[in-house]
Amino acid sequence: MQRCVVVGRRCPSSSSAIIEKNEREKKKKCSRRFRRSSTVVGNNNDNDDDGRRRNQINLKANERANERRKQAVIELSKREEACKGYCNLCGKTHTLERTREAEEVAKALLEKLRKQKSVSDEDESGQFLVEDVYDQRTGGKMIGVLLCETTTTTTTNTSERKVLKAFSGQWMGEWVVPGWCPPLARLTHDSLEYIEEREKIEKLSEEIKKLEKEASWSSSGSSGTAATAVTELKTKRKNMSRALLERIWDSYSLPSFRKERKMSEGDDDDNSDNSNSSSIRSSSDIENNRRKLVELNIRKCYYGDASKLPCGCGDCAAPKLLAECARKGWKPIAIAETWMGPNVKRGAGLREEGVFYGACLERCRPILGHMLCDAALELE
Ligand SMILES: [Zn+2]
Ligand SMILES: [Zn+2]
Repeated sequence: MQRCVVVGRRCPSSSSAIIEKNEREKKKKCSRRFRRSSTVVGNNNDNDDDGRRRNQINLKANERANERRKQAVIELSKREEACKGYCNLCGKTHTLERTREAEEVAKALLEKLRKQKSVSDEDESGQFLVEDVYDQRTGGKMIGVLLCETTTTTTTNTSERKVLKAFSGQWMGEWVVPGWCPPLARLTHDSLEYIEEREKIEKLSEEIKKLEKEASWSSSGSSGTAATAVTELKTKRKNMSRALLERIWDSYSLPSFRKERKMSEGDDDDNSDNSNSSSIRSSSDIENNRRKLVELNIRKCYYGDASKLPCGCGDCAAPKLLAECARKGWKPIAIAETWMGPNVKRGAGLREEGVFYGACLERCRPILGHMLCDAALELE
């Protein structure tokens, strides 16, 4: 089963309410599946042809699903389209390639990490252990590097090459690990706002449990009243969980390399030097304005139905790397993302250590168009 990267944050989508609901649905599905398979067995006894036909249909469906997975893996492994997405703002598809140089840097990082105890050089308490990522049950993580270029310095008149590194989601429950790119969400499981809201939701869960217990002991008359109270509390809990999830999405701010260009109402949006411009600007105004990046909430830059943002959207390595690069005022040159940990099966196929992958189709591509906007422009 694909592990939800937001789960570790104990996001509302994994809150007890949702978990309980999922468990109920799983049980229902199991019983349905059982009923269905019993029927199939019965039918097989009556008519073997029906069973064979059904098996053939299932096999074909499996083949088609495998084919789709293979295609997705092939597409994601293309170097020139490692990072790719459609940009709503300028109506173009922006891409960032994976070069051999970036792959070498990622390989070297993987090798280095495997020899270390901790993934962070500043980990005195030993909380970011490398061995955790090799846990057969929970382990495995996508790690990424971004080769960047800094602006030309006045002293040397040359730009510098920099490397940023990021992991997808959290490192065993931690969003912030020194030396690695931070998360894009302001509201994470360690923020006070989140903790307070979670406590309220957990209190409700306790209340519900207590009432349910009482109802099972009480006489039939009073159990009806308790059942109504339980239903009301469950609705309240569901609404609170949803509201918290919305607040989490509200806290995702995604920069692009595009900069706010409008200096005044009469200006164009093309960043061209207009010598006929009548507006007089001070150089510091221009400097400040040029530095301002176009940052959008994740819902505004998501290409697709933003009311159904996939869980973990914005938490992969690629968006973290690009955001950090844009905020530092650097230019992204190439990216490489590879798997670290035991081999696991994911939606798009097998994840194998040391193999390079492109940004994922479901969570990354719909936001990468915005994030890569103007990334190819020369630095000012
Ligand atoms: Zn992704
Ligand atoms: Zn664009």
